[in-house]
Amino acid sequence: MASILVVDDSKTIRNLLAYILKSKNYKVDTASDGLIALEKVFSNTYDLVITDINMPRMDGFKLIESIREEESYKFLPIIVLTTEAKEEARRLGIKKGANLYLTKPSDPQTLVAYVKMLLASNGGKNPA
Ligand SMILES: [Mg+2]
Repeated sequence: MASILVVDDSKTIRNLLAYILKSKNYKVDTASDGLIALEKVFSNTYDLVITDINMPRMDGFKLIESIREEESYKFLPIIVLTTEAKEEARRLGIKKGANLYLTKPSDPQTLVAYVKMLLASNGGKNPA
């Protein structure tokens, strides 16, 4: 069973995503900001991270950047799920290393389809 870390400062969003993902039999852990998420990523094993952008203490951009700085997390699949819809933000998210950039509200079925797709492709892990 794949394990997913959901990062969002909104408890409502965390609970909603956890509910959706658990209903699809994923194991779900949550974090309320980027700093807590980073600590969790480095001390647990997750198969995928879904992160918000706008959060206190450490935002999603910095979180993604910090994860990607570590060689062993180069291929950890990361989905951004945010209200930040500006093209500039989208570009920055992808540049920092997000595999996908989705905007809220995202249809649960679409989100689950993307999660499945990324888990299947192993985050684009180098086959060599
Ligand atoms: Mg937020």
